[in-house]
Amino acid sequence: MLLAAGNASAANPAVWTQDQAPFRIHGDTYYVGSRGLASILLVSGEGDVLIDGDLPESVPKIVEHIRALGFRAEDVKLILNTHVHFDHAGGIAELQRITGARVAASEASAPILRDGGVGRDDPQRGLIPGIAGVGTVESVRDGDTVRMGPIALTAHVTGGHTPGGTTWSWKSCEKDRCLDVVYADSLTPIAARGYQFSDSTHADVRAAFARSYRTLESLPCDILLTPHPEVSGFWGRVARRDQGDGGALEDKAACAQLATSARQQLDARIDAERAGRVR
Ligand SMILES: [Zn+2]
Repeated sequence: MLLAAGNASAANPAVWTQDQAPFRIHGDTYYVGSRGLASILLVSGEGDVLIDGDLPESVPKIVEHIRALGFRAEDVKLILNTHVHFDHAGGIAELQRITGARVAASEASAPILRDGGVGRDDPQRGLIPGIAGVGTVESVRDGDTVRMGPIALTAHVTGGHTPGGTTWSWKSCEKDRCLDVVYADSLTPIAARGYQFSDSTHADVRAAFARSYRTLESLPCDILLTPHPEVSGFWGRVARRDQGDGGALEDKAACAQLATSARQQLDARIDAERAGRVR
């Protein structure tokens, strides 16, 4: 979840369900999500990969978008996830039933995705609704590569927002030009009432965030994607490309910049907690 304020019953932002025509991002990488929630399709010709299933109500649109691009939902053989929150994983159980795909997630995320609900150690537990459980979920370790035909995706556990949050990277090729695509998981320090990131019992969460920033800073990064597209200025880049700037989606500094802004967000949050402004 992106928004810091509000309570569990607050309505979801309208942009989360605002329709967005699907399109090719680069090479075999396509955008099939809504305007406010990303869902990424990788087409290999030997089975396709879908990353993130968004809200439960997003599912019909994601399927429609896959078909509108000329692909078949039944060809999705693997579903992956950034983090197990209702706005990125809420539709995965239904998408799994429709496609028959395998589902895989990080070791910390897999049991939550399998059983449903909200993770016990999730900072937003109590604030957000849970997800429907998927049933069977394979786990991948930090640094593992998952293959589908010619596609190889690498899992980078970038915890903090959730314990098992995962950034996925892969090479996307157009003819002989291959770019490093990074689908970087959310790094916002958002928590339910009463949860303090500055608390001594959450040193592991602060350490996870710190590792995540370093991971993002070290990844080769030509095209940055984020589960909430506006976090990486995605729509501005897409608009510039649509206006004729062919390289507008590419920015080698984007991953490091995302890390810098995430680090500042956590620092500001901890300052606010210590000043008694967040309880
Ligand atoms: Zn979230």
